[in-house]
Amino acid sequence: MSNSTIFVVATPIGNLEDITYRAVRVLSEVDLIAAEDTRQTKILLNRYNITTPMTSYHKFNIRSKTDYLISLLRQGKNLALVTDSGTPGISDPGQEIIKSAIESNIKVDVIPGPCAAISALVGSGLPTENFLFVGFLPKKPGKKRKALEALREQLATIIIYESPFRVWKTLVDIQTIMGERSVAVCRELTKKFEEIIRGKVGEVITQLQKRTIKGEIVLVVSGFSQETSRGSK
Ligand code: SAM
Repeated sequence: MSNSTIFVVATPIGNLEDITYRAVRVLSEVDLIAAEDTRQTKILLNRYNITTPMTSYHKFNIRSKTDYLISLLRQGKNLALVTDSGTPGISDPGQEIIKSAIESNIKVDVIPGPCAAISALVGSGLPTENFLFVGFLPKKPGKKRKALEALREQLATIIIYESPFRVWKTLVDIQTIMGERSVAVCRELTKKFEEIIRGKVGEVITQLQKRTIKGEIVLVVSGFSQETSRGSK
């Protein structure tokens, strides 16, 4: 095993204060930071006076950059992986290099911190004992419908990442396919305009109809229960 480590570092999902002492230290000490968007990460690094060099690592250069970063690790360099927000590997680039590092016997050290899915789940007030994170639903209507149908009898609380442009339509689809669920639309978590709209899906649809919804969104949906879930088959 090489002596080097790839640190998978969680970074804020909005509020720059949401970073651990350990994350700041690791980002300061590694040889190189692989960042999804170096301009975005620069804002964080400037805030904490971190001068470590960066290289980009995003969905368009994953293939070539994974090999390059693994070669650096093999040479004994320590790297940190960060994405635009939250925990790398959760609906963003990260998994590929983590997998390759493990296959190459390189130590993977996860520095825990913010994750929009977990903050939204906890803030939703819906059951947390069992939950299912599905990330982004397919964009194509047919595939999206199938995905929601597959979730209809899921007992666990469901966590979905959604765009502000599609959230209203997604709620309508949820009501049609899954029935009158309890939902929470968690918007701009940790930021100035943070808001959580909770209620039955029909009520939330009515509320959102009257306004334009902006920003980053996590949708939390209650699991299947005999009383409330009578969506169309
Ligand atoms: N890795 C990230 C994490 O750990 O949460 C998620 C990255 S994914 C590309 C970005 C999506 O996460 C956004 O489209 C939104 O659904 C959700 N998200 C990220 N930050 C958020 C925030 N502050 N408030 C609400 N949702 C957020």
